[in-house]
Amino acid sequence: MDNNCIFCKIINNEIPSKKIYEDDDFLAMLDIAPATKGHVLIVPKEHAETMIELSDEKLSKVLVLAKKIIAAMKKVHSFSNYNIIQNNGRLAGQTVNHYHMHLIPRYSIDEVSLWSPHENDPSVTEDMAEQVRKLL
Ligand code: AMP
Ligand code: ZN
Repeated sequence: MDNNCIFCKIINNEIPSKKIYEDDDFLAMLDIAPATKGHVLIVPKEHAETMIELSDEKLSKVLVLAKKIIAAMKKVHSFSNYNIIQNNGRLAGQTVNHYHMHLIPRYSIDEVSLWSPHENDPSVTEDMAEQVRKLL
C-alpha cells in the first residue's frame, strides 16, 4: 500500500471506481477516461510501479486474467479485436505509478493510434540483439 497512490486508494475503497472483477490478488475496473468503449484496467492489489517490480507470481497470473475478462467483454460490447497494453514509466506513457494492464476493445472507427512505425536500422538492431542475448 502506497498512501499517495490513487490505485491503492481504489483497492482500499477509499475512492470509488467501477469495478468489474475482484479476487484476492487483482481488481479490474472501467477506465475513467476510456480510449474506446469498454476499456478496462487490471490492477494487482500489490503496489508495484512497473512490471519489473511486480512479483513473478502476480505477473504470471495477469495475462490469464486478461484473457478471461476479454472473453466476457467481447460478449457485452460485440468486438472481436482488442489491444493489451501495459505502460512502464513516464516516457512510455505511464501516468499512474502502480502497475496496470489496459484491455482496449477496438472498433472499425475508433481513432486510436498506438505508434507510428519507423525505418529499421539493421546494424543497431543486430548489435543490441547480441548484447541482450549475452545477458540472458
Ligand atoms: P497509464 O497512462 O498507462 O498510466 O494509464 C493510467 C490509466 O488510468 C489512464 O487510462 C486513466 O484514464 C486511468 N485512470 C486514472 N485514474 C483513474 C480512476 N480514478 N479510475 C479509473 N481509471 C483511472
Ligand atoms: Zn499503488
